Amino acid sequence: MRFASLGSGSAGNCMVIEQASTRLLLDCGFGVREVVARLEKLSLVPEQITGILVTHEHDDHAKGAFKLAAKYNIPVWLSHGTCIMSERYLPTNAQLKLNEVDSHTGFAIDNIQVTPFPVPHDAREPTQFTFTDGQHKLGVLTDAGSSTPYIEQILSGCDALVLECNHDLTMLEKGPYSYALKMRVGGRLGHLDNQSAAVLLGKLDNSKLKHIIAAHLSAKNNTQAFAKQALSATLNCELDWIGIAEQQSGFDWRSF
Ligand SMILES: [Zn+2]
Ligand SMILES: [Zn+2]
Repeated sequence: MRFASLGSGSAGNCMVIEQASTRLLLDCGFGVREVVARLEKLSLVPEQITGILVTHEHDDHAKGAFKLAAKYNIPVWLSHGTCIMSERYLPTNAQLKLNEVDSHTGFAIDNIQVTPFPVPHDAREPTQFTFTDGQHKLGVLTDAGSSTPYIEQILSGCDALVLECNHDLTMLEKGPYSYALKMRVGGRLGHLDNQSAAVLLGKLDNSKLKHIIAAHLSAKNNTQAFAKQALSATLNCELDWIGIAEQQSGFDWRSF
């Protein structure tokens, strides 16, 4: 299996997970033209996408998902709550194939087994996912204000992990956001800060971990160096071993 990011952060998120000829997009927070251009950088065209999973209805994850699905006839998987809240994105007169998933029940899309899990975030029914071919596992967690024992159980034993490092607590506190936004971002239903991500990571079985990538970094309240320092301290590894999912360029293919 291999995976890549088309971009990550509050201006748009999108990943691609590939196993043989099955290719899944995880979120699509970019407009259709933009996502097509970003796919091209990974030598992909939309016709090669088997399905789109949408984690929750926020713009930076859902904005382009349904237009892309409609234009290229790609089925979408999402929770019931995300489906209800995504109505404003649905193109009129489009015959969309929407598959509602139970956020506690795994399912298969061709030869990729997908395991959804609910997360604490200020959306209707936010769901994150792990992906496996039966041998290797990729876990993705962004947009989670806090961790839960269930999240830690699900993310244990991953070969590859994409983990939100949204902000540095001090930078958020002293940064330009309004008081209300600081409370939202830093709250239990907001976003995971570097230190909380590091603590979460420390609770996982990391014995198989080959790739760790910090994602959804805030442009105003974090630095790549802070995110790397936090995660590398937990793993006791070189700073450069921690990957970064960048807003503009995401990250290139990684095989696991
Ligand atoms: Zn987000
Ligand atoms: Zn969100």
